[in-house]
Amino acid sequence: MMWRPAEKRYDRMSYRQCGNSGLSVSVLSLGLWHNFGPDIPFDIKQAVCRQAVDLGINHYDLNAGAGSSPGSAEETFGEILRTDFSDIRDELVISVKAGFGASSGNHPARSSRKHLVASCDRSLRRMGLDYVDIFYTHHRDPKTPLEETMSALDHIVRSGRALYVGLSAYDTKSTREAVETLKELGTPCLVYQPRHVSGDHWLDDRELKTILDENGVGAIVFSPLAQGLLTSRYLSRALQDGYVAEMPSSASSFQDSLLNNVRRLNGIAAGKGQSLAQMVLAWILWGGKMTSTLIGATRPEQVVDCVMAMNHVDFSIEELTQIDWFSRV
Ligand code: NDP
Repeated sequence: MMWRPAEKRYDRMSYRQCGNSGLSVSVLSLGLWHNFGPDIPFDIKQAVCRQAVDLGINHYDLNAGAGSSPGSAEETFGEILRTDFSDIRDELVISVKAGFGASSGNHPARSSRKHLVASCDRSLRRMGLDYVDIFYTHHRDPKTPLEETMSALDHIVRSGRALYVGLSAYDTKSTREAVETLKELGTPCLVYQPRHVSGDHWLDDRELKTILDENGVGAIVFSPLAQGLLTSRYLSRALQDGYVAEMPSSASSFQDSLLNNVRRLNGIAAGKGQSLAQMVLAWILWGGKMTSTLIGATRPEQVVDCVMAMNHVDFSIEELTQIDWFSRV
């Protein structure tokens, strides 16, 4: 029998306008990065996406290099779009990034006009789409003039390949220049992707935050759970079997002190009747500073757990201070 999305899928999720735009994005968005390669069975990836749609998540984030082989996540998502979501494609906000990792033919990805347009076209082909909603430049490419990268983004929108553009992981100076250039070109920057946990509170940089606020640029946080560090995953196993050594590369500095901090965070979450993941997501979304936060999920149950974060979004000043402190290494 053909799968149908839940009729009441928009009843419980919250939505925020992305920056000054009219685009409405669910406060939780699903990222299809390392949980979406060919090593994961298709039915699990499909179940994760179906669960997300059923719970009102309308934003799906990919990048040209996502998946354990570049492009494979986009191919998988394309298959799911065809089998399950073709009738609701207009409801979905689908983003892709380009300019990081490997490109076609295993060349390093660049952010030249040539590379970005080709990468966007490959992403569209893999997903079987006419357009994506948001096209991101994934990282500042020091070998390409910023004006060229921004003019490529403008071209990608004007040629109908994307509706909006965004910046990911740009430093403050480049963000300012990029936002100004895009404004002059008439294709304003919709959104910026920062990281916000595990010693990496990018938007603590007041100048960066001011640039985004003054220019009406939204913020969608990536890796909010520090790729699983800010969940119960290591709390239970690290102590028993030296699991710390297996932690993901982005967390190589994750030593005992951080584990202690995670334990403290877990204690605060337990006191609030939340899982650690739920509390961290609620904290990121607290106060409306962020448009949305991406989540990665390996099982549909994790999507359910993360969405339940929205049941408790209140924090005392003391809790906020403690979480802010313990979420730094
Ligand atoms: P997270 O920080 O959200 O961590 C995801 C992992 O946490 C999952 O794989 C799962 O791991 C675990 N998890 C998720 N939910 C729960 C839960 N409720 N309870 C317990 N464990 C849970 O994510 P990612 O690093 O995957 O990043 C999310 C997205 O951000 C990416 O898919 C991508 O779209 C984007 N991103 C963007 C970047 C950029 O440069 N702009 C860089 C990195 C990511 P497990 O089941 O294995 O324990």
